[in-house]
Amino acid sequence: MKKVIIIGGGVAGLGAAFKVRRAADEGHDVDFVLLERADRVGGKIDTEIVADPESGEEYVVDGGPDCFLTEKPAIHRVAKATGIFDDELPTDDSRKKTLILKKGRLYEMPDGVMMFAPTKFVPFATTGLFSWPGKIRMAMDLFIPKKKVAEGERNDETLESFIVRRMGQECLDRLAEPLVGGVHASDPKMMSLAATFPRLLDMEQKHGSMMLAFLDARKKVEEMKKKYPPKPGAKPRTFFTSFTGGMKELVNAMLEAAGPDRVRTGAVVESVDRAEDGAWTVTLEGGESVRGDAVILATEAFAAEPLVRAVDAQIADALANIPVSSSATVSMAFKEDEVGIDMNAFGVLCPIVESRALLAATYSSTKWPGRAPKGRMLMRGFVGGPHNQAIMKKSDEELQAIVLKELQSILGLDSNAKPLFTRVFRWTNGMPQYTLGHLDRVELIESRASHIPGLALAGGSYTGVGLPNCIESGERGVTKVLAEWGLELAEDKVEEKRLY
Ligand SMILES: Cc1cc2nc3c(=O)[nH]c(=O)nc-3n(C[C@H](O)[C@H](O)[C@H](O)COP(=O)(O)OP(=O)(O)OC[C@H]3O[C@@H](n4cnc5c(N)ncnc54)[C@H](O)[C@@H]3O)c2cc1C
Repeated sequence: MKKVIIIGGGVAGLGAAFKVRRAADEGHDVDFVLLERADRVGGKIDTEIVADPESGEEYVVDGGPDCFLTEKPAIHRVAKATGIFDDELPTDDSRKKTLILKKGRLYEMPDGVMMFAPTKFVPFATTGLFSWPGKIRMAMDLFIPKKKVAEGERNDETLESFIVRRMGQECLDRLAEPLVGGVHASDPKMMSLAATFPRLLDMEQKHGSMMLAFLDARKKVEEMKKKYPPKPGAKPRTFFTSFTGGMKELVNAMLEAAGPDRVRTGAVVESVDRAEDGAWTVTLEGGESVRGDAVILATEAFAAEPLVRAVDAQIADALANIPVSSSATVSMAFKEDEVGIDMNAFGVLCPIVESRALLAATYSSTKWPGRAPKGRMLMRGFVGGPHNQAIMKKSDEELQAIVLKELQSILGLDSNAKPLFTRVFRWTNGMPQYTLGHLDRVELIESRASHIPGLALAGGSYTGVGLPNCIESGERGVTKVLAEWGLELAEDKVEEKRLY
């Protein structure tokens, strides 16, 4: 029997655990133990079911991730395998609208904008979100030649340099920073495009213009919609998907499928050692040792760094160079008839140039049906990020007061509307920053780990922060160690199909 020790019980670790379980179910003589330092699994996924103080009816409050990108297959595949596929929840696109704050006023994101590029002329020409010089500068993208990339050179630059070069500063400040940088809670001055949105660099090389590239992308989406119209009665396929019970439903299903009896919470790993004969020993706080034949480090990079140092100092050094930033979400519930705002929107973005404490707010109960009881509104504010780490020093009570005040002044939330409850979730060092050079660091980590039998690193610090990417990275870790033992799963021989 070969035993895999998985360290970290976020989705990456759970993805690894569920894959070992599938290998065992296929008849391979393998098993795992998962060690998680916290008193629960899920890592950044944390959903709380909160009762309304008056009616007792339930709210679903996601404190960390609240959805995943529908086009990525990993979660649909896991949801099918664990029996929760029918609980996948699309957004209510009949109420879809994104508001962007500009000099104290709210503007609706113009129809046809894809990421940061306008693809419809009239909404772009008539929006007040950009000045006329700003619009003209954006349109110059059509004439600016593509960047020359030398043979063998890695095509990379920061989000800021790419957008300013192609579309101008105003496009960066008003659209690209809050929309594209916001996904990674990253500083556009530092964020590596090759590590976060390589497709944008490829689009420039292929089409020479981002506006032409996105026009082409829009055309393809429309053709696909015509070719594959939604089946009658089928759930709509929206850009983002969640679960009716919140994202924790995924965690619970993965835990159940992997085998909760093999998962230990409150198990803080203090060191990892590899003996000459290739056996691994993991030592826990308190001195207990756990022995196995492979180790999958599915923690955040900064937590993996001290653990891997005794095994490979160069991997540890590269991990130490992956920066992080902290953030918090503050969810609040209100009575709908007290808020005094139009609730038909998914949320508001506050670009950094506006210098607001609030970075963004989601109208959770509008975006996701069933998040709040009838007659109630659930909102979630987002604070922190690389430009405002100081706010993380505030107490929970201070954060609540700051977010409430921001919602009043930015959205016009009625000052008499008192929150029925508030929940603060802190994510200290919770967002890895894929800065320039990130891909070199990840390549070094992966290449060195490939020469250390029984070692794999997985999680959101490396090849994608999105939940589906994290699951896949855990699965890849298992594939690596199984291959070293001469084992292969039948599922690995099947090309990933579109499952949704
Ligand atoms: C506020 C916020 C919102 C987000 N929104 C979205 C979203 O909507 N959609 C999306 O796709 N992604 C989103 N993300 C990103 C996504 O949540 C993360 O990238 C992903 O959850 C990371 O999963 P992971 O398993 O790699 O790491 P984690 O979830 O961080 O898990 C790592 C685990 O390792 C454990 N650990 C660490 N050290 C040790 C040790 N020494 N011993 C034992 N255990 C240890 C930790 O306790 C933790 O549980 C969001 C992130 C944040 C912070």
